[in-house]
Amino acid sequence: MSRAFTHDHPDILQLEADAIDARPGAILLKHSPFFPGGGGQLADRGTLKWSGGELPVTGLERDARGLWHLVPGDSLISGKVMLEVEPAFRAMMCELHTLAHVINALVYTRFGGALLTGAQLNADGTFRVDFDLPGADNEALRALEAPLTDIIRQDLAVSAALMPHAEAQAIPGLFRSKAVAPPVGEDGLVRIVEILGLDRQACGGTHLMSTGQSRPARIVKIDNKGRQNRRIKVAI
Ligand SMILES: [Zn+2]
Repeated sequence: MSRAFTHDHPDILQLEADAIDARPGAILLKHSPFFPGGGGQLADRGTLKWSGGELPVTGLERDARGLWHLVPGDSLISGKVMLEVEPAFRAMMCELHTLAHVINALVYTRFGGALLTGAQLNADGTFRVDFDLPGADNEALRALEAPLTDIIRQDLAVSAALMPHAEAQAIPGLFRSKAVAPPVGEDGLVRIVEILGLDRQACGGTHLMSTGQSRPARIVKIDNKGRQNRRIKVAI
C-alpha cells in the first residue's frame, strides 16, 4: 500500500486529480485528500466535481493503485476531477480521534497498561473506546474526565513521524490496540503519533495539531462489556 495522502498533507482538503480507472458509479484516483476510514475513524465526507457535474462521495475503497471514490447512480466519470473534503466533518473526526488518544493514554498509564479492544468515532460528536480491564472500578474510569480536561487545557502539541515497523515493535507501548493494527506502508514504515509529554502510539488516522484545539469533553457513560471489557463513552 502506498503512503496515505492524508499523512503527508493533513491540511489539504481540496485536490484536482486525474482518473486512472473508472466504472459506473466509481472512479479510481492515485492521490486523494479523503481519509478512507479505518481504526474506528469514519471516512471523510465531501464532493467530487467534474465536467459532467457534481456528486457527493458516498464511499471509499482502497486498492493497490489508489482510492476508489463511490458516487450515487451509475455515472461514468472520466478526465480531471476536483475533490473537496467537507471541512467541518473532518475537523470533528480529528477532534474525537485526538481525544481518543488522550483517553487511551490515561487508561494505559493509570490502569496497568490496559490495551484497547475497540474504538468507534461517531458523527454525532461522541466516541467510544473499549479496554481490556477486568475488575476495573467504573468510578475510577469516570474520574478520568478531570485529567482529560486538564490535558485539553495544557494544549499539548500533536505530531506524527514515520518509523520502521520492526523498530516500532521493539519499543514497548507503541502498539496499543488488541483490535486494530495500524497500516504498514510498502516502504515498511509505520506512522507514530505523539502527544508531546503524554503519549506515543502507532496510528493511521487524522488528528488535531494540539490538544487545546478540542472543545471541552465529558465522559458520559461507562459500560461493562462482558467480564473483560469496559466501554468509555465520551462526548464533546
Ligand atoms: Zn490516531
